[in-house]
Amino acid sequence: MEKNNIKKNNIYISEEEKTLVWEDIQASFKKTFGNEIYNSWLQKISLVKEYNDYLILGVPTRFFRDWIVSRYLDKILEQVKGFKLSLSRIEFKIIEETKQNQEFAKINELNKVTEIKDSILNYNRLNPNLNFGNFIQGKSNDIALSYSKKVCEHISRYNPLYICGGVGLGKTHLLNAIGLSLQHENNVMFISAERFMYHFIKSIKKNDMVNFKDFFRKSSVFIIDDIQFISGKESLQEEFFHTFNSLMDKGSQIIISSDRSPMKLDKVQDRLKSRLAGGLVVDIEAPDLELKSKIIKKKIEEIENQFKENINLNEEVINFIASETKTNIRELIGVLNRVIAFSRVHNKILSISDCKNILRDVFNQIRVITVDKIQNVVSNYFNIPLSDMLSQRRSRPLARPRQIAMYLSKKMTSRSLPEIGRRFANRDHTTVIHAVKTISRLTDQDDEMKKNINQIKSLLLEQQ
Ligand code: ADP
Ligand code: MG
Repeated sequence: MEKNNIKKNNIYISEEEKTLVWEDIQASFKKTFGNEIYNSWLQKISLVKEYNDYLILGVPTRFFRDWIVSRYLDKILEQVKGFKLSLSRIEFKIIEETKQNQEFAKINELNKVTEIKDSILNYNRLNPNLNFGNFIQGKSNDIALSYSKKVCEHISRYNPLYICGGVGLGKTHLLNAIGLSLQHENNVMFISAERFMYHFIKSIKKNDMVNFKDFFRKSSVFIIDDIQFISGKESLQEEFFHTFNSLMDKGSQIIISSDRSPMKLDKVQDRLKSRLAGGLVVDIEAPDLELKSKIIKKKIEEIENQFKENINLNEEVINFIASETKTNIRELIGVLNRVIAFSRVHNKILSISDCKNILRDVFNQIRVITVDKIQNVVSNYFNIPLSDMLSQRRSRPLARPRQIAMYLSKKMTSRSLPEIGRRFANRDHTTVIHAVKTISRLTDQDDEMKKNINQIKSLLLEQQ
């Protein structure tokens, strides 16, 4: 501990309290990366917020972020660690360049306002890049899109509007677009269910429920993302139910997204499910080839306009990317960015076989194992319901699989201990540490455990 402390005026300042001087870091970027890369990319990054173990950096566009992440992230992290040891990751936030300075001023201003408001605004601001203008219509999202637009024309006609669909199919994009289109004339609140819970718990701990209730109930448009998160969380459901009713009573529009339809929500009170289903439920399905090609073309157009350059991808290659990307649109865009980056670097028109090579690499990277996937595979493997595995019950038949899932989450994903804890029904990170230690020890000592772990690992890898 002592070692990391700096002595200053006879007071020991811990490493964590140090505040970064962004100009110094920028100077080191320039030195490390060279003028060209610095001027075209790194110079445009700004420091939005500094935490103990991570930084939020501002970048002008999504593409910019993807580019930085795919090429420079490791080096950037290495650099900033040189300034602050405790940093372990970097998050990016898209802030339009012209707005950056105003945003900073706004954030500073808002820091003085109440805490809930402050952190909601910092974390849940609407993203100007996810609007109706750049949401491409296709057969799979046609109905969801048209009702999203209708909600903006006639508030409270379809109430609540419930949009469901698998990951990466455009739910958050649509929710954001609704928020953007309504924000000028309404008090729009946009929050993920996870964040809602975070504030809920924080307010309980601080004995500040009055403020919490006031804050959420005063919106005239309440948009909540990923509601499936409330599964199994009784008191959160209770609070949400009351928030929901009170908003409906005063005629506020509610828009909800979820990975499944209301009645299929697991471990959610029936009365809440029927409330959620009481308006209009629309779903987004997996995109067909036509939609995928349209999205690729639109993205190329956006990049060409933004960077004033030609992207050389022919029709054949576009079709190839569209047909090879099987799962979702987020993945499709990731693949496209890599292909474009490659064609830029090599300055050539790509052939299908170039694309095949790139895609092989990309898929190896993209098909990452997630905590969700681990939880599902482990609970299936031990044949116990997922909700029991995540519950607070401590009996051995539940506790061991839970610990195994935590252990694998630590070993096989890049999530931090607190993040893993949060995904396991909001457990503390010390519980995760304990689980990792216990299972590590058991895999060494116990052949049965070793066999289980290996089988689960291969199941996870097989599912790629
Ligand atoms: P979800 O919330 O359903 O997991 P997102 O809304 O985050 O998915 O969408 C994933 C990515 O795909 C985002 O970058 C989003 O902008 C993009 N996207 C999804 N659907 C469309 C669409 N129809 N047109 C353009 N971009 C889309
Ligand atoms: Mg989403």
